[in-house]
Amino acid sequence: MRNFLVAGNWKMHGNEAANRELVAGILAGAPACDRVSLLVCPPYPYLASVAAQLQGSAMELGAQNVSEHESGAYTGEVSPAMLADVGCRYAIVGHSERRTLYGESSTQVAEKMAAALGGGLVPILCIGETLEQRESGSTEQVVAEQLGAAVERNGIEAFGSAVIAYEPVWAIGTGRTATPGQAQDVHRYIRSVLAEQDASVAENVQILYGGSVKGDNAAGLFGMPDIDGGLIGGASLKAADFLAIARAATEI
Ligand code: PEP
Repeated sequence: MRNFLVAGNWKMHGNEAANRELVAGILAGAPACDRVSLLVCPPYPYLASVAAQLQGSAMELGAQNVSEHESGAYTGEVSPAMLADVGCRYAIVGHSERRTLYGESSTQVAEKMAAALGGGLVPILCIGETLEQRESGSTEQVVAEQLGAAVERNGIEAFGSAVIAYEPVWAIGTGRTATPGQAQDVHRYIRSVLAEQDASVAENVQILYGGSVKGDNAAGLFGMPDIDGGLIGGASLKAADFLAIARAATEI
């Protein structure tokens, strides 16, 4: 049976004082449940201070992005080894904002996944379609292309050490959540694509849903058989909101 992961992507929000309060609030109310892990992904400058605050707790730390390079003359980039060095266990790769605003291709995202794995991090590979793509009936094709590039570069076995986040772009930050049925259909499809190569990897990989998850819709989503938690944006910025989502996972 797969466990749940509830991950907060803080994006470009926060500061030292606000982060400290947010993390303290989450830690104070974090449900004690072996089947549910919590993860926060602050902006780079705050990783070390959040890591220090998380010491001794079960909450995990991750980065929102990572370089595909190991080291060298890459101004402004941050390597997987650096992230691991400051206490990260996870790194998000291929978030739709990186793909659309910073032009990251599926090939580059696959390289980032490779670098993360090589640096001892667990990549969270984000995939998902735009509204236009959904309305034109190409959701599965888009998801298969994004996933396929990662499988081709890293091999199916890499998904034994990775997490997938299905995030329909039209649901991110819009307040428009996929219905549990819509999300489940794509999650099942993702698992079936992986199962063509390795049934056991497909069965065991965690697939998170992301896109306007809130305390009041989390239970419906997390109750679906192929949804193993959430990647949470807006609702990860307030401890009470994030905890309501975490609690929903513990009640499944
Ligand atoms: C995200 O940024 O990954 C996300 C899912 O954001 P939100 O929860 O705000 O839709």
